Order: sequence, then structure tokens, then C-alpha cells
Amino acid sequence: MATLEIYQFPCLSDNYGVLIHDSESNLTASIDAPEASAVKQALGEKGWTLTHILTTHYHADHTGGNLELKDATGCTIVGPRNEADRVPGIDVRVGEGDAYEFGAFTVKIFDTPGHTAGHVTYWIPKANVAFTGDTLFTLGCGRLFEGDARTMWNSLSKIAALPPETVIYSGHEYTLANAEFALSVEPGNAALQTRADEVRELRAKGEATVPTTLMRELETNPFLRPGSPEIQANLGMEGREAFEVFGEVRRRKDNA
Ligand code: ZN
Ligand code: FE
Repeated sequence: MATLEIYQFPCLSDNYGVLIHDSESNLTASIDAPEASAVKQALGEKGWTLTHILTTHYHADHTGGNLELKDATGCTIVGPRNEADRVPGIDVRVGEGDAYEFGAFTVKIFDTPGHTAGHVTYWIPKANVAFTGDTLFTLGCGRLFEGDARTMWNSLSKIAALPPETVIYSGHEYTLANAEFALSVEPGNAALQTRADEVRELRAKGEATVPTTLMRELETNPFLRPGSPEIQANLGMEGREAFEVFGEVRRRKDNA
């Protein structure tokens, strides 16, 4: 059975780059391309040749390397249909319900708007992995630049419905600040307390807190927990709708 190799590396100030490689077909995709030089270096370290870029959203810290990498390798750039005009070098436009064949692996696409209007998430069921860009972070979620709370909650709900064992890669290392904020809205969550300690230890050693698993996020990420009685009580929002509670948690994080 084909295996999907995944290689994550830090780049820019707090972004992660990720390469995925199918050895059977010898295809290699970069999930986003924050900067060409870092992606090239990672390719060199692995001895892989870039064939694809899978763009989650158009922001420069996710597409800044697109054109230089396409120039250098002739790779195919796959990106969100709903903001295609803003994705440099885009070749293949994808959106909700699409499937993109990557060697032996089928990549399923969800529209996950909110951070940007066209943001997509890539899910590879056979490899048990999802790439959520700036929609879902470890213990956090993206800012609502181009969508309201209802839109983003709907997007997060799609991710939350994936199998709980799904491994979640996201675009940034924001977890330490996310953990402190999470504790401020749900201090009594024992799983979160344990997790926050782990996060502090990992970051003290300079280690990544990405990827995470969906199961851990469902237990500890306040942006996925608007149903938590403790969060609702702390916000004075008992019994309110999930998207409203989510929206208030997001607003507080913006102002934290
Ligand atoms: Zn972004
Ligand atoms: Fe970003």
C-alpha cells in the first residue's frame, strides 16, 4: 500500500511549510508556499522534486513562493476557485466537494471560508490527514477577515465532522498564545490544563505543536467548544447558539 510521507518545516516568522510525497508515483506537493527558498531547501533535504502546490488561501504568507517555484519546477498549482484571481500562478481551481487525484491518494476539498472568502481545506482520507491552512490552528482558529462568525463556525464544523483521529496540519505556530487564551475562557478543562503544560514544554525546547489531532482539538480548542457549559457560563451566554458563542470567543481573542 502506498504511503504518504509528510515533511514539515518552519519558515518566515511563524509559518509552517509542509511537503507531502507519494513515493509510488514520485509526486511531491507543497501545502502552500510561504517562501520559495525555504520550500526549495526542504525539497533538497528530502531529495524530492516539486510537482504540485496546494494553496489553502491567497494571503502572501501562503502564496509568496508560488511563482518562483512554478518557474523553477513547472509544478501545477491547485487552489481555491472562489478566490482564484488572487492566487498567483493558479492552474487548477477547486472547491467544495471536489476530489483531486494525487498519485495513489485522493485529496478531498472543502470550502472553509471565514479567514478569507475562498479558503479551502484539503483532506486526504487514505493518509488520515487534513491541511486546514489558517482556518483551524492547534488550540486556535484564524481571524475573521472576510467572513462573519456564522460563516467561520460553519467552516469549522466541517472540519470537526472529520474522523477524530485525523491529523491536522495548519499554517502557523501560534499555540503558546492560543493555550493561554484557551485557559482564560475554560480554566476548569483538565484536558486543556495538561495540554497547555505540554505546549509550554514543547515550545521551551523549540519544538513544533503542529500537527495536532482532531480529537485533541475537540477536547481542548475553545473555538470548537461553544457547547461547553463552562465557556458559556464564563461568557454569560448560557444556552446561546453555537455560532454566537464561537463569535464571542473569537472577539475576545481578537481583543486579548
Ligand atoms: Zn492567512
Ligand atoms: Fe497565514
